[in-house]
Amino acid sequence: MYFTFLTGSQHLYGPETLAQVEANSREIVGFLNEKAGLPFPIEFRGVMTGPEAITAAMKQASFEDGCAGVITFCHTFSPSKMWMNGLRLLQKPWLHLHTQYGMEIPDGIDMDFMNLHQSAHGDREHGYIGAFLRLPRRVVAGHWTTPAVHEKVAKWMQACAGAAFSKTLKIMRFGDNMREVAVTEGNKTAAQEQFGWAVNTFPVGDLAQAVNAVTDAQVKEIMDEYHERYTINTDDTASVEYQARLEIAMLGLLQREKCGAFTNTFEDLHGLRQLPGLATQRLMARGYGYGGEGDWKTSAMTAILKHMHPAPASFMEDYTYDFAQGLVLGAHMLEVCPSIAADKPRIEVHPLSIGGKEPPARLVFAGRQGPAVCASMVDMGGRFRLIVQEMECVPPTKPMPQLPVARTMWKPLPCLETAAECWILAGGAHHTALSYGVDYTTLNDWARIMGVECVRIGAGTEPAALERELMVSDMIWGRK
Ligand code: MN
Repeated sequence: MYFTFLTGSQHLYGPETLAQVEANSREIVGFLNEKAGLPFPIEFRGVMTGPEAITAAMKQASFEDGCAGVITFCHTFSPSKMWMNGLRLLQKPWLHLHTQYGMEIPDGIDMDFMNLHQSAHGDREHGYIGAFLRLPRRVVAGHWTTPAVHEKVAKWMQACAGAAFSKTLKIMRFGDNMREVAVTEGNKTAAQEQFGWAVNTFPVGDLAQAVNAVTDAQVKEIMDEYHERYTINTDDTASVEYQARLEIAMLGLLQREKCGAFTNTFEDLHGLRQLPGLATQRLMARGYGYGGEGDWKTSAMTAILKHMHPAPASFMEDYTYDFAQGLVLGAHMLEVCPSIAADKPRIEVHPLSIGGKEPPARLVFAGRQGPAVCASMVDMGGRFRLIVQEMECVPPTKPMPQLPVARTMWKPLPCLETAAECWILAGGAHHTALSYGVDYTTLNDWARIMGVECVRIGAGTEPAALERELMVSDMIWGRK
């Protein structure tokens, strides 16, 4: 995956100036590739001096599978009408890098120097056409050698990687959504149009058959890995082995169908002896998305967060509050990804109080601390809304030895009460995708690329202002 870099100019400057524009552009791109710590490479595709070349470059960027986005920068003045047709055709995310070759105004500056280095002029013309066309775009301003610019470009690149992944994502649903639950439902056809997700059902019976076809040798291999990576805190080896079978069978089906995420529900496990617990946790650790109770939207978002950033990420659920300390205890029945574990996970077997199946093996651990976000995608009827909660994960306040599931605790920003009021006003789900690497800026970039509303809840958020924002947003997004 790479990003296309185009420099704006025009013919009027003559070959000598254009050669200098190209040399400077190559130097900027070279620096960004070698010293900026960006997650993906940038390919310089030339100095644009006329509409034909611009349109050709935009078409090429749109149809190259490996190109995840286009970065433009106007070194000199670049009359913007010549960009219009190309930008209209562009089908990839666009970042307008408003930089300038030189950091400072040099001593002895003359008119020739100023004509060559006039991004302040050229990028305003370029910005106007972006605004005129109402094109979604990210604008990053600053000198190309500064870390603040690198960080903004890196986050946008991660959003683009998430967008490219989203457009190819297939989600395997075992069973339907949990009966009577509203927020995990949604329009799958609309989701495919908006995000590219192919959300399709597969028979649980096929999974049961695949589980039965797993060989003892395959189980032994996985069991050896369990012994190596986890503390085995149970005598019920048969239950652990059954989860190994589930893991192998589900992985096989996901690979066969080229799916990057899956769902299941405890209400539809016909032919299975246990709800997949340990098995689901292991697949999430491999990078697969997961949503409980048929929640395909959260499953997709978990997979996307994992592909945007290599940091730990998991399916999560707001479970219980500690109002005294302003904290949320997050967990799920079983399915929390061990990538977020702060300690060595333990394999344990405990009964589930719902579902009527055998007690499933699961990984039990406490989550790591640090800044994180959780994201919830909800279907508002006719459109989607992404809600992002900024938070600080903290070590669990108590040992909780009677709690038989993986858990993590966090302080939502600005504080538990305000965050919860805002989340509930916005209609955020109890299920979320949690990431320790992706932040609001990246998710907002991603939402802009996908064409959906993004609501931030974090430091400074205030319920009355958010309520007004949601009402205004509903009018705007409802008309799109
Ligand atoms: Mn749930």
